[in-house]
Amino acid sequence: MPSAIVVGGGIAGLVMARDLVLGGLDVTLIEASGHLGGKIARHTVAGLALDAGAESFATRRNTVAELARQLGLESEITPPNPQGAWLQTAEGRAYPLPRTGILGIPGTPLAADVIAVIGFWASLRGQLDQLILGFAASKERNLGRLVRRRMGRRVLERLVAPVTLGIHSRHPDELDVDVVAPGLRAAMLATGSLSHGVRRMRDAAPAGTAVSGIVGGMYCLIEALTRDLERFGVTVRLNSPVAAVDASGVTLVDGEVLEADYVVLATSLRPAGSAAIVLATLVVDAPELDAAPRGTGVLVARDPMHPELRAKALTHATAKWSWLAAQVPPHRHVLRLSYDAAAAAAVSDAQLRGTALRDAGALLGVALSEASVVAFARVEWSAPSSRPEAVDGVIFIGEGVAGTGLAAVIAQVRVESGRLLEEVEA
Ligand SMILES: Cc1cc2nc3c(=O)[nH]c(=O)nc-3n(C[C@H](O)[C@H](O)[C@H](O)COP(=O)(O)OP(=O)(O)OC[C@H]3O[C@@H](n4cnc5c(N)ncnc54)[C@H](O)[C@@H]3O)c2cc1C
Repeated sequence: MPSAIVVGGGIAGLVMARDLVLGGLDVTLIEASGHLGGKIARHTVAGLALDAGAESFATRRNTVAELARQLGLESEITPPNPQGAWLQTAEGRAYPLPRTGILGIPGTPLAADVIAVIGFWASLRGQLDQLILGFAASKERNLGRLVRRRMGRRVLERLVAPVTLGIHSRHPDELDVDVVAPGLRAAMLATGSLSHGVRRMRDAAPAGTAVSGIVGGMYCLIEALTRDLERFGVTVRLNSPVAAVDASGVTLVDGEVLEADYVVLATSLRPAGSAAIVLATLVVDAPELDAAPRGTGVLVARDPMHPELRAKALTHATAKWSWLAAQVPPHRHVLRLSYDAAAAAAVSDAQLRGTALRDAGALLGVALSEASVVAFARVEWSAPSSRPEAVDGVIFIGEGVAGTGLAAVIAQVRVESGRLLEEVEA
């Protein structure tokens, strides 16, 4: 039986290990930490099992739903509540996030909900996109430069940046259009403008919402995958950091060498570096939040002139997910705020709790007292993995190659596992 080693037990490595064992390979999965799941993780706050990392997935390519089906979780797929998210401007005003966009890029720049956020003149500048020839900037793969050239600076900073900072933890200037919005440049060329391209992609998207979740949280995917690996006989080695890989096998940090016919790297081997994002979770008893004043949450456009508000985004988790709301007593709410780790580095847990409570009140437009807090938790995550350096004969998967997000990661794993299994058969 041909053998394979998969390094990294995040979603990429787990899906790859499952595909390969089902394809008849003898598979060993090697994970540095003491647990599987990587950036899909769970923590318990106020007795609630909550996602500590990824909490939803893009439905765009159907890849995650397909995996969930294979894992027997099809009936657990659930859309978020439909109220939608809000955007808070740098001046502190809050508006529902314009509905027709992709990554905040408006499909209709002069729509009333766009004008409400960025003002008439900035919307008019966005609309100029439709007068610029379709191929202008169509070779531009930098998202920031593309939007700036076609729609202007305010569309970029006021609409797109808050969305990408909330979703990808990166400014558009640091993002590749083809990774975060595959197909958008082609749609722009085909339709003659960026806004029409956005609209075409929105129209082509599967009906319903752009994201979904799993009842019980995304961690249910990891539990189901772990069960399958056990059932199908994958050898899982935890607490085994890998130091080096080549086409014939891997060398662990402790010097042990493992050999295999196929080697798959589902992580960057470079050290993760210091934390990049800090999540502050608050469980509060606050009847003022029962009406979900800001829908499913708030993305924040930050301005250096207004440093007092530091959260990048807030998710009102109990307003977003009905399955979670069903688990809490009346008037109890789960709020998740994200912060730049650099800003939070020197901040104690007690200080972060105070800041998160103040930010939550400001973002949700209600006064939240210290007495309302039932529980608080802090979780830190490193930046998305960087692209690993190529090694001959080694297959690379995961967010370092595919880009962040479960839809992108799983789609890429499925391509690579298919290729590898074809090669084994040949
Ligand atoms: C806070 C947060 C929220 C997010 N929210 C969402 C969301 O809502 N929706 C969405 O689609 N995406 C979201 N993402 C992104 C998504 O979680 C990731 O893109 C995805 O989970 C990456 O999976 P992966 O398997 O490629 O990498 P990882 O999950 O990073 O897994 C890599 C694994 O490799 C292990 N490893 C590292 N080095 C070694 C080594 N030397 N030897 C052995 N093992 C090693 C790690 O311990 C880890 O388990 C979020 C990310 C974060 C941080």
